[in-house]
Amino acid sequence: MTFFSVNGLECRHGLLAAVRGVSLAMNEGEILALVGANGAGKTTLMRGIAGAHKPHAGNIVFDGKDVTGLPAHKRVALGIALVPEGRRLFTGMTVEENLRVAGAHGRKGKWNLEAVLEAFPQLKPKLKAKAGDLSGGQQQATAIGRALMTNPRLLLLDEVSLGLSPLAVDQVYESLHGLMSGGTTIILVEQDLSRALAVAHRIACMLEGAIVLEGAAASLSRDAITDAYFGLHRAGAKA
Ligand code: ATP
Repeated sequence: MTFFSVNGLECRHGLLAAVRGVSLAMNEGEILALVGANGAGKTTLMRGIAGAHKPHAGNIVFDGKDVTGLPAHKRVALGIALVPEGRRLFTGMTVEENLRVAGAHGRKGKWNLEAVLEAFPQLKPKLKAKAGDLSGGQQQATAIGRALMTNPRLLLLDEVSLGLSPLAVDQVYESLHGLMSGGTTIILVEQDLSRALAVAHRIACMLEGAIVLEGAAASLSRDAITDAYFGLHRAGAKA
């Protein structure tokens, strides 16, 4: 049964149509990787789903409820959480404060400070450190932990690898592993195609605001995805 869907979504930046007629449907527990070149519209789509960017047309249905008109904080309360590109932590606050503030605004559930620290043990010695003083990997762990504190049912991860060392990326994905196998529905924007193919059940490729290729990760060849990425796909291709 469809748990989450986006139907004919359009998002604009002024006159620019950054997301054009995007439709997606996901079952609970599915992991969808959103890939595409810089400027393809991935971040705008994620922000539209999270309520951080008001759509121009189309709708978003989450667990049977049309959430298109709801502000971001109400979507968080329902269980939609975004880990934004660039992390956007409260850099002057401590790690613990960043986590606790989020916890106060989310749903009740299994995720609390202890559970987040178990998933991201690298944060334990940093709880009292200012978020702005952390390494990139630690900041990313805090940003994901902050989203988890709201007990999301749909987690939106926008380029969690961006700007991190390969070691820090491995560490973040290792921590995400339990979450990914634990039934949380996830959409992740990931530039590393190998990683996207390794963790996602489904792949959707965006080009100039539209989804140009979508299908089960196991059914899509790397070449087909790369072609779609660069706009070399056959028109209307769907796996
Ligand atoms: P990236 O990987 O670089 O983040 P993306 O696929 O996430 O790219 P978006 O950031 O959603 O793409 O951008 C989609 C289009 O919207 C691009 O043409 C971009 O220049 C434009 N855009 C994004 N944010 C704004 C903004 N705040 N104001 C105006 N145009 C914007």
